[in-house]
Amino acid sequence: MDVFWHEDCFTHDAGHGLWELPGDWPWLDVPEQHPENADRLRTMLNVLRRGPIASRLRWHVGRAATEDELATVHERGYLDALRAACAGPERVALEENTVVGPGSWPAILAAAGTTLAAMEAVLDGRATKAYAMVRPPGHHAQPGAADGYCMVNNIALAAASARRRGAARVAILDWDVHHGNGTQEAFLDDPDVLTISVHMRHGSWGGSHPQTGAPDELGARGRNANIELSLGAGDSAYLRAVDEVAAPLLRTFRPDVLLCASGFDASAFDPNGRHNVTAEGYRAIGRRVAGLADELTGGRLLLTQEGGYQRGYAAVCLHALVEGLLGITRPLLPDPIAYVPDDAVRNAAVTDADLAAVRAALAPHWPGVF
Ligand SMILES: [Zn+2]
Repeated sequence: MDVFWHEDCFTHDAGHGLWELPGDWPWLDVPEQHPENADRLRTMLNVLRRGPIASRLRWHVGRAATEDELATVHERGYLDALRAACAGPERVALEENTVVGPGSWPAILAAAGTTLAAMEAVLDGRATKAYAMVRPPGHHAQPGAADGYCMVNNIALAAASARRRGAARVAILDWDVHHGNGTQEAFLDDPDVLTISVHMRHGSWGGSHPQTGAPDELGARGRNANIELSLGAGDSAYLRAVDEVAAPLLRTFRPDVLLCASGFDASAFDPNGRHNVTAEGYRAIGRRVAGLADELTGGRLLLTQEGGYQRGYAAVCLHALVEGLLGITRPLLPDPIAYVPDDAVRNAAVTDADLAAVRAALAPHWPGVF
């Protein structure tokens, strides 16, 4: 597998405050680092470089995106305002918890450009399975708005690039614990890009995130599938979401290339999520995704890094996902804290109801599938 990264992804610093909220909190003795920080990417890179999977990976340095490339998804006026906000010298909150400052602009360009470099390698046949290990993340960024730690939508840019380079149909599967609202918004009117988001039921979170993530946000010809899962969903619910909804959609849509927005904030220990996925769950997701790519796209698969905020466990989950992508079934890196039970097995009726609602919403657009 080919991993793409760039040193400039470390230069974005959203500062300190109360968890994700910037500012001074007089009662807080030790301000907390913003959860979307360079250390989380450093940890993820290092588990791949130093973990038992290391010998199976090839490393590539990415590049900076051009502003013309960003404009294939984003509005020029938004990009001008974003660049100005990053000019400093002070940090600026674009919305409540999405903060930029000096150093953010090179990181934004590197995250986008490195994802595009990985996409180009897949499309040119220089790589089959490629992972863009980048930050800041992107899937909440909408064509004209920043949201949820995201300024520019890396995976949407990759999908747009694939379409420009001749892919007739592109599919995006997003398993970050939060709704991929920015990606949804970018392709809502485009029936040639199938967007599927598996996420916890968190609803709209204000002006920067008006989308609800509910199954009834269907897009053109039902080509946007929101698989909204109840809080507490664990491995079994995620695998059912893939097997019972995402896989049938992908097999019917038959994309030329499969893109995945890979977040680890659905993990059992993530402070930003209320789901319960373990490393074993991510390993199983990796196996399924690689299998779908082999079956449908000639193996052409691009993954981009999205959330994942409990650094150590996110790294364990990443290693497990990559093992799954490479077809390794016996864990190479043990999960030392897999002690939270999967209550979704006992409460299968909750997942039954969640998935039934998704299938019912999609059914009119996908005859014979649901
Ligand atoms: Zn997330």
